[in-house]
Amino acid sequence: MTLDLPTLLQDIAADVRPLLGEGEVASYIPALSRMPRDRFGIAVATIDGRVYGAGDSGHRFSIQSLSKMYALALALQREGDALWQRVGREPSGTPFNSLVQLERERGVPRNPFVNAGALVVTDVLCRRYLQPERAVLEFVHRLLGEADVAIDAEVARSERGHSDRNAAIAHFMRSFGNLHGDVGAVLDAYCAQCAIAMSCRELARAGLFLAADGVQPPGTRVVDALAARRINALMLTCGAYDAAGDLACRIGLPVKTGVGGGIVAVVPGRLCVCAWAPGLDANGNSIAAAAAIERFATAIGASIFAAD
Ligand code: GLN
Repeated sequence: MTLDLPTLLQDIAADVRPLLGEGEVASYIPALSRMPRDRFGIAVATIDGRVYGAGDSGHRFSIQSLSKMYALALALQREGDALWQRVGREPSGTPFNSLVQLERERGVPRNPFVNAGALVVTDVLCRRYLQPERAVLEFVHRLLGEADVAIDAEVARSERGHSDRNAAIAHFMRSFGNLHGDVGAVLDAYCAQCAIAMSCRELARAGLFLAADGVQPPGTRVVDALAARRINALMLTCGAYDAAGDLACRIGLPVKTGVGGGIVAVVPGRLCVCAWAPGLDANGNSIAAAAAIERFATAIGASIFAAD
């Protein structure tokens, strides 16, 4: 059976509409709190170059923690396996912005997708690049083959002005010697990379290298195959924080979530899908986007645990 992806995406957009009133828009970053909850988009990019979308699939939103995929890819490309001496590869079982585990593990974050881990990754990038947030943005430009995507300066400023918790995490790690640069500079770069604005269509296209062993279709290698597989493994086990197990059960794919309401999922060897809806659950994951990706993965039989 050939799948009619455009119709499937339209059906999913209609199905999840009743969920759009649920959850809360992230308000701890004031610039994000103004986003209306009734927006929804979904897009799929296939490794053979097709892109399909439904709803607000072309509307740009704040990618927030989705940027952690790109920053990690860049850091792995530059640092290789040495990175794992400073960041773990285990699920955290704690909220994305938690401090509690850091004392027990002497300033080494559980994984690169919780904020602590992403701040260490940013610290690595600060060592390697004069403008680390530009390096992340240019990595995205390379993935998309165009330089249109940008950092939303207002969102970056808004988060930077309310970054006490991330500052606390960074200082705490620095006290253990696991953050080498200037805390202010690391926070500037981190908030800027989180404030990149992209649409579902762009995020689905940009994620294709993770579905193709590190080669961005049609044929640019951006990370080695092992790095791409590791990023996928970390997305499956840690990409949705406290809900990683639940989303692995429901979706069965590597996923990454962000408090802007976006969720990216990778179907290795086939495609990348991104859904967006601003209403978040208590873990900071989009309720309607998770439901949409669950429906999509079930409809196309995408779970990596399926036998066929
Ligand atoms: N910029 C956000 C923060 O640090 C990212 C969190 C997220 O998307 N889960 O709090």
